[in-house]
Amino acid sequence: MTLEEIVTKSKRIVFFGGAGVSTESGIPDFRSEDGLYRQKYAVPPETILSASYFHAHPEQFFAFYRDKMLPLHAKPNAAHKKLAAWERAGKLLAVVTQNIDGLHQAAGSRCVFELHGSIHRNYCMRCGKFYPASFLAESSGVPVCTCGGIVKPDVVLYGEQLDSETVNGAVDAIAAADTLIVAGTSLTVYPAAGFLDYFRGDELVLINRDATPLDGACSLVIRQKVGETLAALPSFL
Ligand code: NAD
Repeated sequence: MTLEEIVTKSKRIVFFGGAGVSTESGIPDFRSEDGLYRQKYAVPPETILSASYFHAHPEQFFAFYRDKMLPLHAKPNAAHKKLAAWERAGKLLAVVTQNIDGLHQAAGSRCVFELHGSIHRNYCMRCGKFYPASFLAESSGVPVCTCGGIVKPDVVLYGEQLDSETVNGAVDAIAAADTLIVAGTSLTVYPAAGFLDYFRGDELVLINRDATPLDGACSLVIRQKVGETLAALPSFL
């Protein structure tokens, strides 16, 4: 079956995505040729983005975060927009994303499980006051609340737990799907990648430029760009 045939017959699609879903919006992923992990830093990005580094070296953490993790001018691409259209058309149950960029919501998706949090939510570690991403972008050094506490992004750093309500919602959606489309992810970040095991539906589709550990288990593997691939499909509106 083609992807168009699969999507046409599906009634409860769930989309599970990663950083590759946003590369066509100009945001680099982590593990591709031009990804963040191939760029040279004195300290590896995985280390900088860990909870222990954040607490030990907040200045350096925020310098990297502001420089690399706050793509506030990026716009949703054809993949984000088509998924939002499928949700409006009653075909798509949910988007489960490892991304923190908020582009699914910017495209109009409503049921989005952000496994690794969002750059758009930031909280004072002392009093809990909320700050938008623009506050971090415009701050310098370590961003500080009016009460003097550090303002921390609500993103899951390496070594931190995922939010249990978000995980439960994502797993329930995956378990209820008739078709699961996995795209733009190397499937190397756990526990997120392990949630795919809850899928019990008919069609498992993978759209990814590079090979992944899931390829052999899929009914369809597409080695194309996810935005271009979804752009070619109907909106069903
Ligand atoms: P990854 O970098 O490990 O893998 C990305 C995968 O996407 C690669 O296999 C690559 O071949 C593929 N890819 C890249 N562009 C593509 C395209 N246009 N079409 C199809 N495939 C494409 O990313 P990951 O698996 O999501 O894991 C890395 C972690 O990085 C995640 O936890 C996520 O939180 C974080 N991250 C998020 C963003 C973001 O929010 N946009 C950006 C970078 C990293």
